[in-house]
Amino acid sequence: MDHRPWTMDQLNYSNITLQPIQPAWLPPQLEAAMLRLDLLHPEVSGNKWFKLKQNLEQAKAAGQTRIVTFGGAWSNHIAATAAACRLAGLQSTGIIRGEAAPVLSLTLQQAQRYGMQLHFISREAYKQKDNTDWEVQYPDGFIIPEGGHNAAGAAGCKEILSLAPTQHFTHILCPAGTGTTLAGLINSAQPQQQVLGIAVLKGGTYLQQEVETLLESSATANWELLQGFHGGGYAKVSLELIDFINDFYTQTGVPLDMIYTGKMAWGLQQLVQQGYFPPGSRLLLIHTGGLQGNLSLPSGVLCF
Ligand SMILES: *Cc1c(COP(=O)(O)O)cnc(C)c1O
Repeated sequence: MDHRPWTMDQLNYSNITLQPIQPAWLPPQLEAAMLRLDLLHPEVSGNKWFKLKQNLEQAKAAGQTRIVTFGGAWSNHIAATAAACRLAGLQSTGIIRGEAAPVLSLTLQQAQRYGMQLHFISREAYKQKDNTDWEVQYPDGFIIPEGGHNAAGAAGCKEILSLAPTQHFTHILCPAGTGTTLAGLINSAQPQQQVLGIAVLKGGTYLQQEVETLLESSATANWELLQGFHGGGYAKVSLELIDFINDFYTQTGVPLDMIYTGKMAWGLQQLVQQGYFPPGSRLLLIHTGGLQGNLSLPSGVLCF
């Protein structure tokens, strides 16, 4: 299969590696590796490119010249969309939750540098964003929901498991925000594999249903959405989590973000300690990227 995206030279799939990891808390009977999607590109990193890819192709095929999408001040999706549209030769507009701060977040400053037009709306208006007729304001716009949560997003994520020899693994783990990436992995995993989504927000049954709406009837893998590892809710970051992320980096050399991949790896540690995985299990962690979000922390908090 040819993995070169149509924005060819800038997104190099051969940067993505499958990196074995063996932190001290992982017993020798368990094997683990990370699929480093974060290495694809500093901003168009991780799962966001795969969720955007088919959306951008659809926009281009429909002759639309602008992508309109949604997010908060530190959104990885906003960062990725701005950069990907720049690479793809599309205009972009970000509808941003909340009034503009006097000094914009580094994420939004970078998005602007990539040429994204920022359109700030109140938190109340943002709650109504899915019931707002954005096509009227942006007639040249192709609308992508927040987080790239749609069927094209999930379809693009089916490519992830083909980027490395992943059939060897018994379990596949990823963080779940909207569940789009998880759905793509379930739709492309082998029947004998188990796919585990670590919910990063208190999504309850809602998130479970969101995943189910994106599953294909041909999906055969076992899967489970694990709700116990969100650490208090979306973007809730404790000192324990920061310590875990620093330790993980020291032991494996893999940098994690605090919203998604940090909680996935922390959840893995707790699952291992609970004896969740039978001896001999081979665990594949999907590093979904998101490292640009760490810039919201004061420098020195993380050791990388
Ligand atoms: C957006 C994001 C996710 C969540 O992906 P979903 O497909 O919405 O579940 C996971 N990890 C990182 C780093 C992200 O930026």
